[in-house]
Amino acid sequence: MITTVVFDLDDTLYDEIEYCRSGFASAAEFIANLPKAPPAPDIFDALWRQFTTGSRKNTFNTALDELGIRYNDGLIQELVKVYRDHVPKITLPADSRDVLVELRDKYTLALLTDGFLPAQQLKVKALGIEEYFKCIIYTEQLGRDCWKPSPIGFEKLLKTLNTKAETVAYVADNEKKDFIGPNKLGILTIQIIRPARIHTESAPPFLLSLASASADASRSGGQESRGASARYIVHEIGQLPALLVKI
Ligand SMILES: [Mg+2]
Repeated sequence: MITTVVFDLDDTLYDEIEYCRSGFASAAEFIANLPKAPPAPDIFDALWRQFTTGSRKNTFNTALDELGIRYNDGLIQELVKVYRDHVPKITLPADSRDVLVELRDKYTLALLTDGFLPAQQLKVKALGIEEYFKCIIYTEQLGRDCWKPSPIGFEKLLKTLNTKAETVAYVADNEKKDFIGPNKLGILTIQIIRPARIHTESAPPFLLSLASASADASRSGGQESRGASARYIVHEIGQLPALLVKI
């Protein structure tokens, strides 16, 4: 029986693209204050265009090139810091809040998230979700080696909550890294596939067809989950409470 529900953060409880938009808006403000820079909205447009057309690793470089602004590594590092340290303008979607409110009466809730600090902490604060969780694991605090797919964050979670793996469900989005650790430990895994998730385009075609072939909240396979796939798939967070009752 499941008594603890653990959530991933980005693209699970909210759409991470909203955070990216907010981060690039902050970076645009910063760049606009440089000598001879264009106005912030033009800079934001260039950043967003580069980001959404695929220059995700070098968004700042390619946008500054497009804008004709000279830069060096120091400026790029500074922009990365502005992005990661900015206070994000993001809000928790209503369906996520409804589910957290509903589940907290019946289950112990927790959060386990990878990513840079303080960015992850600032997201949690902006979304106003701290109050729902008995425990929040920022894997970064355990060391970079402990980011998913490492199971270490999950081991720490079980120890902190003093609970057994078979009573825990982990809800997350990314089939490349999220489910390997919890599957190994015997935690039940549930993938949420939000329509706006950032990883959608890069997901391998076989996974997308598996996802659409698994009807709402249905079992993705009759056996124990192994490897990288989640045992269950949902397409809306609102499907979670009913699924948890069925499991
Ligand atoms: Mg995620």
